[in-house]
Amino acid sequence: MLTGHYNSVLVLFSVLVAILASYTALAMAARITATQGRSARWWLAGGAFAMGTGIWSMHFIGMLALSLPMPMGYDPWITLLSLVIALASSAFALWLVCREELPWPRLSGGALLMGAGVAGMHYTGMAAMRMTPGIQYTPPLVILSLLIAVGASGAALWMAFRLRKDSTRIKLFRAGAAVVMGFAIAGMHYTEMAAEYYQPGSHCGVIDTGIDNDWLALLIIITTLAGLSIALIVSVLDARLASRTAALAASLAEANHELTHLAMHDSLTKLPNRILLEDRLHQATENAKRYHGLFSLLFLDLDGFKAVNDSFGHSVGDRLLVEVAQRIRACIRARDTIARIGGDEFVILLDAEEPASAAVVADKLVTTIRQPFMIGELELRVSASIGIAIYPGADGRRDLLKDADAAMYHAKEMGRNCYCFFETSMNADAQEQLQLLHDLHLALERHELVLHYQPKFDAASRKLMGAEALVRWQHSTRGLIPPNDFIPMAEKSGLIVPIGEWVLDEACRQMSEWRRFGSNNWTIAVNLSPLQFGHPGLIPMVLDTLQRHAMEPRCLTLEVTESTAMRDVDASMAVLQQIYSMGVNISIDDFGTGYSSLLHLKRLPASELKIDRAFVHGVAKDGEDAAIVSAIVALGKTLNLKVVAEGVETTWQQEFLTRLGCDSLQGFLLGRPMPAEQFIEALSQQDIPTIDDGQGLAPSWKLVAQTS
Ligand code: C2E
Ligand code: CA
Ligand code: CA
Repeated sequence: MLTGHYNSVLVLFSVLVAILASYTALAMAARITATQGRSARWWLAGGAFAMGTGIWSMHFIGMLALSLPMPMGYDPWITLLSLVIALASSAFALWLVCREELPWPRLSGGALLMGAGVAGMHYTGMAAMRMTPGIQYTPPLVILSLLIAVGASGAALWMAFRLRKDSTRIKLFRAGAAVVMGFAIAGMHYTEMAAEYYQPGSHCGVIDTGIDNDWLALLIIITTLAGLSIALIVSVLDARLASRTAALAASLAEANHELTHLAMHDSLTKLPNRILLEDRLHQATENAKRYHGLFSLLFLDLDGFKAVNDSFGHSVGDRLLVEVAQRIRACIRARDTIARIGGDEFVILLDAEEPASAAVVADKLVTTIRQPFMIGELELRVSASIGIAIYPGADGRRDLLKDADAAMYHAKEMGRNCYCFFETSMNADAQEQLQLLHDLHLALERHELVLHYQPKFDAASRKLMGAEALVRWQHSTRGLIPPNDFIPMAEKSGLIVPIGEWVLDEACRQMSEWRRFGSNNWTIAVNLSPLQFGHPGLIPMVLDTLQRHAMEPRCLTLEVTESTAMRDVDASMAVLQQIYSMGVNISIDDFGTGYSSLLHLKRLPASELKIDRAFVHGVAKDGEDAAIVSAIVALGKTLNLKVVAEGVETTWQQEFLTRLGCDSLQGFLLGRPMPAEQFIEALSQQDIPTIDDGQGLAPSWKLVAQTS
């Protein structure tokens, strides 16, 4: 029996090649799984090539490591055949592990086939030496080598299948698995080699015609290097691609997360928005249904926010909203939801809450929001009106948000700065409002609007100076509706523009008719709503109306509220300037309720300030109100503006205001708003009609009527 010696360096090299081949194959399996169609087929071919040549090289390096005491050579065709067998079984193995599933029967069949392939390659490779006499085999070792081949293949297939998905953790495992697989392949080879022995006098039959050992070494080194470089390139590319994909996926996930956050939150206050609120509301409803629980919904609307926004601009308004959001947050627990669903509208969802504790929270909110806010140098005051709806409602109703909204409106009507629980009747109110809006659309064409005129008197001489036109709606079923009940609605819906146009036209028409009674010095005052004031058609409309009724501009006064005039001061100034240059008078209405800065007031081309009736009402009782009124009068004098006091109801007020230096007075004491016929009747009878409350004659009216 011939014995050979192993070159340990080459043995080590053969094991390394086996490990490398295994790693490559595992990496390729991952690529095949990660791709589809044509590229997957290319990866399969590449993987089969790397693995096949790897196993094949391992075999021949193992052969080279063995030095036998005779010259060796290999039959090229049989050698090629062994390579083909290695490639085919590798391709099969890779194809197998890249299926969706790898059930046990399939794994066993695959292991058997691949083991047979690897063993087949080995014995074909051995046959390429064409030894005479033939190589002898020790049957138990052959069987062991076959078992190792099948077992190693099975293990390799299973590992490759489990490790075919990419991830950092799996890559580590994959390196370990490649080592195990490499040793298994090498172990199989060396067991097979141990099963073989050469009889004395054996010689290789292809010494002259076959490939000799030098060539084989070269060939193998080239194929191994090729395999190695493929493995390296693939793993580098793979790693890069994987990390880039991972980075891309991570940034995508982040962007996605941000987008979802943006879509669900208000950008100013960072609070949840309506979308998220509705989702939470849905969850809360489902929970309450399942566990027969309760929760409450608070609808909070700020009072006086519009005036802040109008007077100081949106940036101050925005900062105020952020502060309000912070105060609200401080009043509730972390598990409750606060959402901002509109300009100054917040909704608070109190999880699992009894009505009594909802009231406690609402009370806390009203109290904290009432405290002044410091925005930069400004001290601002707003208040909150809150509506509360409890789930489940008494009547099992579900539209909680609408209910809370209706309750909030009720709180506003009750004088603001308070909270109110929802009652079923409130929804009827909302329904009624909708009906009213519908009717208002038709009011103009049905000629249901009428103007009432309230006389305005010179304070000192008590002479009639003119009147303020005040609109009313003669509704077919509801009777006479006061402006406060429909002007806000008209303003919101935009209907105020045609209504305002009609008011101006009718007031001017009436005025030119009255001129026939010799009242040449009267002025007629008409109110302008914020929307009208900002409307681009205003100036031409006023001009056109004046011309149509051949009315002198000085006989018309347009009243704009202080907060309207102070909203976007530059734009207001431009409009007011145009009105002024037409010769029309401007009165700043409800003065004292807004936030005029003295600087802006100085620039306003106004002719009068009209003290809000709330201050006039308080002059007798409230020292603060009296101080405000006298300050406004002083301010008017300094700025060379006439000061009008409206809402004069008592002679005490009349005398006080006259003494203070108010230029003109208007109020129930001197004359209520009345229809044109009554107004003129009073004039021609030189008397003022007795008004329902029996106030009797206004002394000043008599005086004027006599002199006019
Ligand atoms: P305003 O411009 O401040 O009008 C004065 C309001 O005070 C009128 O109420 C008038 O009836 C009321 N008033 C007059 N004297 C007294 C008094 O001695 N005591 C009390 N307590 N009140 C007095 P009215 O007519 O109900 O109008 C309410 C508001 O509706 C007006 O307030 C004005 O802002 C708006 N408005 C009225 N007519 C028009 C209009 O044609 N166009 C626009 N845009 N708004 C209008
Ligand atoms: Ca007015
Ligand atoms: Ca007023």
